[in-house]
Amino acid sequence: MIHILFAAAPDRWAQYEHPLTRALDALGLDYVLSPEMDPAQVEYIVYAPNSGHDDFSLFPRARAVLNLWAGVENVVNNPTLTIPLARMVDDEGLTQGMVEWVTGHVLRHHLGMDAHIVNPDRRWVPVAPPLARDRPVTILGFGTLGQACGRALAGLGFEVTGWARSAKDVPGVRTLGGDDTLDTALAGAQIVVLLLPLTEATRNVLDARRLSLLAPGAVVLNPGRGPLIDDDALLAALDSGQVSHATLDVFRVEPLPQDHPFWAHPKVTVCPHIASETRPDSAARVIAENIRRGESGEPFLHLVDRAAGY
Ligand code: NDP
Repeated sequence: MIHILFAAAPDRWAQYEHPLTRALDALGLDYVLSPEMDPAQVEYIVYAPNSGHDDFSLFPRARAVLNLWAGVENVVNNPTLTIPLARMVDDEGLTQGMVEWVTGHVLRHHLGMDAHIVNPDRRWVPVAPPLARDRPVTILGFGTLGQACGRALAGLGFEVTGWARSAKDVPGVRTLGGDDTLDTALAGAQIVVLLLPLTEATRNVLDARRLSLLAPGAVVLNPGRGPLIDDDALLAALDSGQVSHATLDVFRVEPLPQDHPFWAHPKVTVCPHIASETRPDSAARVIAENIRRGESGEPFLHLVDRAAGY
């Protein structure tokens, strides 16, 4: 009998109980799954950092922490965590959601939709947008989500550059790897999308100097993490016109405080951290597969590199 603790915010249990049960049953596993369990018995922890659990030493038999979220910045440095940590990689749900969000927001700015949706002065300015092939888009962070978005945008014809620690091989995309290529990746970009994890190395990666490398009037989309951007530098770039618009889904403090200048800024679109979320049905299958692997001695999928922080 496998003992699985569901450790997430209490309201999540109602969403995940049946999908997890279905996924575990489909793999023929013999298990107990509950949000309440004697810590001494727990073998797998299905986890979200908002669960309130932060002392993993209380679970002496635990074999893995299976994070429900893609981002692990709130758990990866926990000193009590000495067992494998897997993060959420779910092509059907999380990845697909991010591709849709990024594609939609890129197209909004590429096509200049705002000018026609809100046009109180009935201005008739018959200027067509350029084709996608003339719109350079740079994606910082070219992992699971960045590559999926890059493929989708390249498929629409955009001139895509993907930047990561190591260069990738993605057809139709220019990929660059390492710190010394970041300036090249940003130079002349008209739209920049941040899909980096938050680590000490990526904090404030988009600062004043790097914002100045973008094409004048560039657009910034941040569905990654708030602290990837130096907020003051972004506000200055918006005010100077160097950045014409920022669509931000993530913030240093969430929910974004009511008095934060982003709310009132005419060139900022605030989204409430909804770019993509873990979808219970498909995520449950990812979790169940990792538990099956743990039980059969196979390597876990989607393990976090604790030293790298993601
Ligand atoms: P991955 O781990 O698959 O990809 C991360 C990418 O960032 C990799 O390409 C990695 O490089 C690169 N990277 C990491 N550190 C550096 C660095 N110092 N310099 C250059 N590149 C670096 O993560 P995902 O694509 O699955 O997710 C990315 C992030 O998206 C998550 O961490 C999370 O913060 C955010 N997210 C936001 C959501 C939302 O709703 N707003 C939903 C889901 C995720 P390399 O490939 O060389 O290792």
